[in-house]
Amino acid sequence: MRAVAVFPTEKAIRLVDHPTPRIQRHGEVMLQVLDVGICGTDREIARFDYGRPPAGSPYLVIGHESLSRVVEVGAGVTRVSPGDLVVATVRRPCPHPHCRACARGRQDFCFTGDFTERGIAGRHGFMTERVVEEERYLHVVPAHLRPVGVLVEPLTIAEKALLQVSNVQDRLPWMDAGVRTRAQEGRDRCAVVLGAGPVGLLGCLTLLIRGFDTCVYSREAADSTKARWVESVGARYLSADDVAIGDLTEQVGRIDLAYEATGAASVSFAALQELGTNGVFVFTGVPGRKGPIEIDAELIMRRLVLDNQLVFGTVNAGPDAFDAAIADLARFRARWPDALASLITERHPPEAYVEVLTGPRSGIKAVIAFAEPA
Ligand code: BGC
Repeated sequence: MRAVAVFPTEKAIRLVDHPTPRIQRHGEVMLQVLDVGICGTDREIARFDYGRPPAGSPYLVIGHESLSRVVEVGAGVTRVSPGDLVVATVRRPCPHPHCRACARGRQDFCFTGDFTERGIAGRHGFMTERVVEEERYLHVVPAHLRPVGVLVEPLTIAEKALLQVSNVQDRLPWMDAGVRTRAQEGRDRCAVVLGAGPVGLLGCLTLLIRGFDTCVYSREAADSTKARWVESVGARYLSADDVAIGDLTEQVGRIDLAYEATGAASVSFAALQELGTNGVFVFTGVPGRKGPIEIDAELIMRRLVLDNQLVFGTVNAGPDAFDAAIADLARFRARWPDALASLITERHPPEAYVEVLTGPRSGIKAVIAFAEPA
């Protein structure tokens, strides 16, 4: 069967004839891959800067943002049935029994770093026709989300971040989880999203749906398609062309939550200086290694201490974030059907892999479609 594969030692990407997998063990499920999204990580793997084939394989089948249909279930499978749409989590546990995170099924917090990731590190991904996966890594997506279901995995980044923000902000007594509903979480609070890529824009919807007064700050012009998109969903857009990062607070007021989705260290640390009292700053972007930058560490440290600020980074996502992403995607679809659909700006056949993975970037989310929506 067809699969898009990266050969790191040869520095080549090819459409290969990959063996069709079979259900071999209890609890396994055969999937027909429908859509695979492309993100910065895939493009890094396609530049041979990242990514690792499974042991003994010369190539890695790429692709970790997936939407599939169940075609066959093995013995002992109880939660999914043929015909179901599913999204698979990306990371698989490390083999060390002492890793408490992996032992608890929370390999997104793995201590050892010896985890594998589908389509990224040591395990084939989804840019192929059929995949066999263990049921425990699958999340069922309602059928009506077929056109946008491929956005679940990139949305889990914001969901994991906000689950953690919600936990840590329980430190503020008036943020009592007992009296807080999802729609009230962000009430009277201001969030700034840095970057208007797919992670930033999905983050923007996630914040809006929780009631945050949300602003997206990015490099695109104030009359760009992305700026209009942001305004159409009810957030504010500020272009770096018009507003210096140092003026962010002056523009939006006290920043309670900053959601970084640029991967640019200079932008992010400048924005960190704008974080408000009792605020949380979440890093999600992974910068390339471009060398040291200058920051006003003294100022940042003073503010962190004197203003009770909190900074954390977040990667990958656990089952709770996948469930939250599926539930939120349905809410987004009900509230912003057109804006949500318009995040997927390109759909390509598998044969277009070279251009999609290595060509110039345009649009928002590019998808490789292995099957057309019915
Ligand atoms: C994926 C994560 C993964 C991370 C690091 C991201 O693009 O969404 O699942 O953990 O890359 O490999």
